[in-house]
Amino acid sequence: MPLRKRRASIWRNWISPARLACREGKETGSLFVDLRCTKSCYFCFNVNQPHFEHFQKHRRNIVLELEQAHASGANYRCLAVTGGEPLLNEDDVIAFFRRAKELYPHCHTRLYTNGELLNDRNLERLAESGLAEIRFSVKPRDFDSRQEHVLHAMEKAVAALPNVVIEMPVIPGSADEMKSLMRLGVHYCSADNRNSAQVSPQNAPFAHSEDVRRHYAWLAFGEGDHFLKCAKAFGDDAERVRKWADAKESVPYNFDGSAERIAFPLKLAQEAREALPGIDLGLNTSILEEQNGGLLLREVGLERIEA
Ligand code: SF4
Repeated sequence: MPLRKRRASIWRNWISPARLACREGKETGSLFVDLRCTKSCYFCFNVNQPHFEHFQKHRRNIVLELEQAHASGANYRCLAVTGGEPLLNEDDVIAFFRRAKELYPHCHTRLYTNGELLNDRNLERLAESGLAEIRFSVKPRDFDSRQEHVLHAMEKAVAALPNVVIEMPVIPGSADEMKSLMRLGVHYCSADNRNSAQVSPQNAPFAHSEDVRRHYAWLAFGEGDHFLKCAKAFGDDAERVRKWADAKESVPYNFDGSAERIAFPLKLAQEAREALPGIDLGLNTSILEEQNGGLLLREVGLERIEA
């Protein structure tokens, strides 16, 4: 069975045509009407979105946004509707895929869903709208009373639509439940893929702009992922690292005296540890966010670097 991208994706006989473009975020668009959902998965990215609360009550006009993008010359090879649970806004979603088909006849269109609201009627409407792919986001141990309904919906989707994908996080001890899904014979895309589909475009300015790299000179892409990484020290250790970095003269860092913390290149963590015995260091993971026309660095993870 083929494996792809650091074993993050697995498929049998077939892989979603949207995968390559999705990985790089080129000529791809992902829209949502709002962020309401029928579930509350522990790994959901949405709660960390800046406007999560706002889009519990407000809706976007995704057809209008698509038309505006088209009018301004945007080209798309892949267009996705995500959420929240998009089928809470079924009419908007159908209208979007119909319009996408008119404006971008060769574009690969994709709908993310948890499958709970999928039924014969809206599946037929989705097929008629020209939707190319439906992607079920599920997780093992999540199969409660709706499990049978969702599995049934997956089977019906295989018959109704050209492409069906299941994406799920790999959870230790859930192999049997995952295997029970494999019987459907579709493409399985892990949460890591979803992760990179969001993280790669967000951190693209760091990859493409010398100015951004210079501004965040203590950061670097992690090995094997699209997150930005650095080492951090706190309290008295922050001051020790700052003096060490100043003495070396060539170490870029970001020192925040009021918060007593310093960020510096992860590749220098071992050297700092050898120079400063007993120091406590953390591995920091961040992504860039656009806010008010500028870039903001948002910390999404911090873990101790063991000596
Ligand atoms: S189904 Fe998707 S959008 Fe809804 S909570 Fe789970 S991960 Fe988030």
